[in-house]
Amino acid sequence: MFSPPPIDNGIEVSGEYSLPIVILSIIIASLASFTAISMNERIQKNSFFHRNIWLILASIAMGFGIWSMHFVGMSALSLPFKMHYDYLLTCLSIIPSIIASFLAFYIVNQKKRSFASYLLSGIFMGIGIATMHYTGMASMVMEAYYVYNPWMFATSIIIAIIVSFIAIYIFSRQQKYAKNNYIKAITSIMMGLAVPSMHYIGMAGTTFYLPRHQAMTAELHMNMTLLITGVTIGITLLLALLQLSSLVDRYVDYRVSHIDILTKLPNRRSFEKALNDDGSYRSIAVWNLHNLEKVNNDHGYHFGDEVIQYAANVLRQLNLPLSDLYRIDGNRLALLLQGNDRLIELQQAMKIISAKWVQPILIQEKKILLQGVCAISTIDDQQSPKRLYSDILAVLSSPSIQYQNEVIRFDPLIHTYSFEQEILNSIDQAMKNDDLFLVYQPKVNAGTQKIVGLEALIRWNHPEHGFLSPSVFIPILEQSHRISDVTNWVIFKVCHQIKIWEEQKLPLYQIAINIPGEYVTSPRLLKTLKKALNKYSVNPSHLELEITETSVMESAESSMRAINTFREAGFSVALDDFGTGISSLSNLRQMPISTLKIDKSFVDEVPQSEKDSAILEAIIALGHSLNLNVVIEGVETKNQVDFLSSSESLLLLQGYYFAKPMIPEELLEWIKGNS
Ligand code: C2E
Ligand code: CA
Ligand code: CA
Repeated sequence: MFSPPPIDNGIEVSGEYSLPIVILSIIIASLASFTAISMNERIQKNSFFHRNIWLILASIAMGFGIWSMHFVGMSALSLPFKMHYDYLLTCLSIIPSIIASFLAFYIVNQKKRSFASYLLSGIFMGIGIATMHYTGMASMVMEAYYVYNPWMFATSIIIAIIVSFIAIYIFSRQQKYAKNNYIKAITSIMMGLAVPSMHYIGMAGTTFYLPRHQAMTAELHMNMTLLITGVTIGITLLLALLQLSSLVDRYVDYRVSHIDILTKLPNRRSFEKALNDDGSYRSIAVWNLHNLEKVNNDHGYHFGDEVIQYAANVLRQLNLPLSDLYRIDGNRLALLLQGNDRLIELQQAMKIISAKWVQPILIQEKKILLQGVCAISTIDDQQSPKRLYSDILAVLSSPSIQYQNEVIRFDPLIHTYSFEQEILNSIDQAMKNDDLFLVYQPKVNAGTQKIVGLEALIRWNHPEHGFLSPSVFIPILEQSHRISDVTNWVIFKVCHQIKIWEEQKLPLYQIAINIPGEYVTSPRLLKTLKKALNKYSVNPSHLELEITETSVMESAESSMRAINTFREAGFSVALDDFGTGISSLSNLRQMPISTLKIDKSFVDEVPQSEKDSAILEAIIALGHSLNLNVVIEGVETKNQVDFLSSSESLLLLQGYYFAKPMIPEELLEWIKGNS
């Protein structure tokens, strides 16, 4: 391969490169690198799938990229003879590039990395690229004879190693700034260049010889089929991989928010969705395990987890037809059944389990006694499936429960409605007939004391209990997972109100809506917001979503994602009751919120307490340093206002000192008097 042909056998011939196709080959290699880098980011990020899956996908992307670059590069060269490819070798030539990419990515993704590991990956990658190239060359079948210049041959491999090393080094360094697309693009081009640089240097060191008689009459041939095949395979595969990975991302998001990781059962959110959206459920059984906390304390959380898994498996193995099992709380498993008249069947199945659990069960060679209770209930076609769960709650809150694995059927006479039940049963009606209504509290600019925004707060004039405070009924709605319906109602009311004010040509202020914690990450929320905005032709910039700090901290990652989506959709987002949760300051920095609402407790003792005043000032400064709007809530006295309006930068105040929450008519009067 390095020795020239016998002198009488041939004459040296040369080809011509097409510049546009050379550029195309570089673009393909860069695109492949971009895809591979995107996959590599996921290796770092995602724990749901095994990281090797992303490693393999990244390697396939890079491997195919190298491969199609080679063939596109080959077709950029018109040669004075015909040739075709040996299919088997052509296909095999992709293997070294995939393996090399895998090894290289594997090494750079190790936690401990050193200069040596970058070097090693560079060597693997470089050799992989070169092996692919020279295998690809060997797969050419042609009339010509070719010879490699040994120096150029060696140079091409060394160049491949060096450029790969540099690219991998930059790539590994840039992972910190993965979000920065600019750096990502530069890295992709660097990595992309490693492949063509090797290729074209290798080709420069290749000399083709043709028999003398042929060389005289030869014409240049360009292999268009090769070009089209290379480009099509390369691009299609890369785009498919990118598409696949974003699909997988969405799937992971979905799984994480709808599936309980421990039991792999659908979680409470799925349960609610099923009761809300699927009208076919008619019966329910809920097992409430009572002594889990004690089990955890006595034997550790790992053991407690196994107990839950065991219980979930027992219920799973029942395999009742048309039934779905959910883990709706840490200690609650729910079985929903479709179809009428199945209560007896359900009751019998539960009694079998109950009989089993009266005896101690064996877990990890330890005998423990499960103490639980099973509540069951059924409805007819006229009743809403949502009713099923409130019945269960009525059973589970009854004082007669003994937690001896008894199976209790809901009985409206025994499980009389508690106050909570009454709230739950009257909330739908309250939304319909305006027992529930909204009041609006102004937020003012501390400097000018002019109104700049509003917060919508809910009120309930209950037919039996009179005026109920939201701090009484909101927690009940939250516990029984009915709060999302009410939030939707608030969203529509607020949008309607904005439309009314707009039609009356009144000045519009941004209105804040309180979003309960568990609803923040639900896709239903964004859908409802969009529907309401659409219905009343309201711009998202007119709404601010208030999310409490505590709820964000409970599921930091998914809340963060949700907040991002809201901001992208054009809403403002405020972090409510700031200071009552335990958010770390580093979290705050990463949170894409627009407003910080400092909890009332921070202003209560201001300005008389020097310490509190200093803390409040520090928090305000922190908010401003993060470029956030800062609102102080619960401002009640003139002294507080005087203290706070001395601040240089923009500060918003909300509280009884300025105004209580008011119905729209009162609010308009107040605005008139205040301007
Ligand atoms: P929040 O979101 O922190 O709302 C501020 C609460 O402080 C309101 O009580 C407001 O009336 C009250 N407030 C405002 N200024 C002052 C003041 O100067 N002094 C005092 N002592 N209180 C002041 P409200 O309306 O009773 O609401 C209580 C909580 O109920 C709210 O706290 C919020 O968590 C919840 N809530 C109210 N409306 C809604 C709603 O529409 N949806 C949801 N999910 N929650 C709501
Ligand atoms: Ca609020
Ligand atoms: Ca608040």
